[in-house]
Amino acid sequence: MVDKKWVYLFNELEQAIAYVNGEWDGVRALLGGKGANLAEMTRIGLPVPPFFTVTTEACNAYTAGGSKFPAGLWDQELKALAKVEEASGKKFGDAGNPLLVSCRSGAKFSMPGMMDTVLNIGLNDETVEGLAKLTDNDRFAYDSYRRLIQMFGSVVMGMSDEIFEDPLEAYKHQKGYKNDTDLTADDLKELVKVFKKAVRENQGSDFPQDPLQQLSLATEAVFRSWMGKRAIDYRRAEAIPDDLGTAVNIVTMVFGNMGWDSGTGVAFTRNPATGENKMYGDYLLNAQGEDVVAGIRNTDPIQNMGDHLPEAYKQFMEVTAVLEKHYRDMQDVEFTIERGRLWMLQTRNGKRTANAAVKVAVDMANEGLISREEALTRVTPKQVDALLHPQFNEENKKVAKKAGRFFATGVNASPGAAVGQIYFDADTAERMGKEEKQAVIMVRPFTKPDDVHGMLAAKGILTSEGGATSHAAVVARQFGVPCIVGASQIRIDLERRQMKVGDSVVKEGEWISVDGTTGEVYLGKLELTVPNIEEQTDLMTLLTWADETARLQVWANADYPRDARRARSYGAKGIGLCRTEHMFFEPERLPTVQKMVLAETSEERTAELNILLPYQRSDFAGLFEAMDGLPVIIRLIDPPLHEFMPDEEKLFEEVVTMRVKGETKGLDEKEKLLASIKALHESNPMLGLRGVRLSIYMPEIVEMQVRAIFEAAADCASKGIVVKPEVMIPLTGTVNELKWIQPRLERIAKAVMDEKGVSFEYKFGTMIEIPRAAITASEIAGLAQFFSFGTNDLTQMTFGYSRDDAERNFLIKYVEEGILVKNPFQTIDREGVGRLMSMAVNEGRNVRPELEVGICGEHGGDPDSIEFCHLIGNNYVSCSPFRVPVARLAAAQAAIKHK
Ligand code: PEP
Ligand code: MG
Repeated sequence: MVDKKWVYLFNELEQAIAYVNGEWDGVRALLGGKGANLAEMTRIGLPVPPFFTVTTEACNAYTAGGSKFPAGLWDQELKALAKVEEASGKKFGDAGNPLLVSCRSGAKFSMPGMMDTVLNIGLNDETVEGLAKLTDNDRFAYDSYRRLIQMFGSVVMGMSDEIFEDPLEAYKHQKGYKNDTDLTADDLKELVKVFKKAVRENQGSDFPQDPLQQLSLATEAVFRSWMGKRAIDYRRAEAIPDDLGTAVNIVTMVFGNMGWDSGTGVAFTRNPATGENKMYGDYLLNAQGEDVVAGIRNTDPIQNMGDHLPEAYKQFMEVTAVLEKHYRDMQDVEFTIERGRLWMLQTRNGKRTANAAVKVAVDMANEGLISREEALTRVTPKQVDALLHPQFNEENKKVAKKAGRFFATGVNASPGAAVGQIYFDADTAERMGKEEKQAVIMVRPFTKPDDVHGMLAAKGILTSEGGATSHAAVVARQFGVPCIVGASQIRIDLERRQMKVGDSVVKEGEWISVDGTTGEVYLGKLELTVPNIEEQTDLMTLLTWADETARLQVWANADYPRDARRARSYGAKGIGLCRTEHMFFEPERLPTVQKMVLAETSEERTAELNILLPYQRSDFAGLFEAMDGLPVIIRLIDPPLHEFMPDEEKLFEEVVTMRVKGETKGLDEKEKLLASIKALHESNPMLGLRGVRLSIYMPEIVEMQVRAIFEAAADCASKGIVVKPEVMIPLTGTVNELKWIQPRLERIAKAVMDEKGVSFEYKFGTMIEIPRAAITASEIAGLAQFFSFGTNDLTQMTFGYSRDDAERNFLIKYVEEGILVKNPFQTIDREGVGRLMSMAVNEGRNVRPELEVGICGEHGGDPDSIEFCHLIGNNYVSCSPFRVPVARLAAAQAAIKHK
């Protein structure tokens, strides 16, 4: 039997493509993003050191086989190594001309810093001497060797960093050195001894001298890091499946620490924070890659590289231009310059802030690099959401500055504002955020991949060290968490759990405000404000393209004119739900509403409703004005009446107290009120006297509402406003309910138009939120001119889960246990609730082809549910005004996906 192919050489991309049947996505799944892109860069002739990739399938086979290499893997690694030796002209383990390799993780989706890497594999007591001779640089050789022992110890042998860091610091201290670069060759030779001793003491065995053993152990360590805690935390957050596995790239080492004609860096082809079309990155002369990424040494901006290494810089700019054109996206690259010669070590599509995602997408479409449709797929609904998130306003910051509350500044690494209590380690930050539900700002000197769980639980991140491409910055940008790095005035005292600038001290648990957009830190709490969408011109452009592409319209749920105006400015094309009962809760109206509910005769009730009518008329007029020319769906009263009454228990207590104290003034009324509330009490009010049932039971209320709607519409129409009222009847379960109520209401509508002498378009329709209504949609469509899915109730009633209680009881566990894939109150359950919806649309349209169909439950703002509404042929989705931009993008993406 021929062994499965577990290993692909740098020049075997075609074979990998053939194996996965031509799909680039399949190549990335097999070789990981890093491996696939290294092979692709090699294929297009860019300078990449010789390498081979061990596939993700090998990683999965290793895990499945109980942490054992699958048959044939090691053999294939050895053969590939021989080819790399040939291509590089060096030999692994040969003291005369040693080949050194790195062993780098690389999964299908980039997981920056979440898995392991070992550099300088192949060094031992002999090859280090060879390397020193060959390069005529003892210092470099021994520095490389001590780095290998340190990395190997921590990554492969699982030793803690301190075991190496502590003696290193002690050594530097003893010699009076400040920086690692102060260490001499002799110092490093000494440190190699110290490190080897540390390994022996900690592990009970020596650091392995056999380069092949180093390689095989490092490969295993990278495999294992796929199942490490931080990788798993990250995958949960990013919804990356566990079964993808990681590939392992074994790459010829090139050295940025061979002297001052060498260097290393990371860069983005555009600014990942703002999207500006300008190279953005950091580099260090005479350093290895990890020095830049870890943010331990202070880096130089990439533009300065032209002064030190002009030739390499020029080539670098050319290569990155090729890469951006080739991948048609902003690239995030790692490179090393070894004695003036440029090597590319990685390229991938760069992670970016929401701001940058929008700008890069719009710019690239305008540059002709991508189409508008592609631009629409380059931005996620979550990113649009982030752009509408709160910020600090300038005025408040000025006031805070005057009051002496300005604390520090740093690099504005991830935009957005956050206010929270500070914690100095990831575990505490996570616990305070998750369990105590506190708003948390995580503060660290710098962050490491192990800190990801704390960063995820934080509202903001602040570090005193590191640069724009340090770990904290990269991760924060990706998760959209506001972040400031390198705020170097801040002295963090981890022992005393406090931070300090001058005399100003902030203790753990105290509040600060961080502005990731500007890099400023303030003491205490600053007020957050909502950004103005109209000022975000690139976003406005992108959303205009979205509207041109989408088939679904986006409407908004709005109860008040102010909400309607916001919805319109966010691009809503109508109001899909005005919950009229919210107007009844206004304090000045509530007493009248209560009297109306308590009325014993129809006349008494009508008298109270006559007081409410002008209020409602002006509410509706405000909506029609705000939505001039667009449809406005007004839903008639829905909730059960007891919601308008005082709290039963409290009232009972008051009555009892009065009786005990013998107080009589007002007791009678209170007792009467209590009796009425008791009479209105229902064990399960959600299934009780609400919606259309209430309208049939007490038609006077909705008769007043319909009169108010049409009087307002008529008045507005007379003023030249184009009104399109749509009256929505909630909670219909049988067509007979509509047959009873709708004609009465339509008569009122006509009467008002006659009285006012104006006519305009209008519709009567219903919500579909009871399963029976969906099942009998063809009958209901005989009367209803539109359907609007109330998926909050439809989900509640289809599952039989109480919408008010399920989430605090069992539902979250159901999702965690995989009994439900997603929370059905957030994302439409396509198989159950969705089937009812799809059936209702089809059957309704059979009877009434022009039937207008929408959705106004919470699902209307959820991208996955929006896609579903696109698929079943809805005309629109309606969601809260703040979700409108998100929904516009999601509607366009659904149309593109299902062309
Ligand atoms: C619904 O049930 O989905 C709906 C929009 O109505 P409400 O949430 O007001 O019951
Ligand atoms: Mg409802």
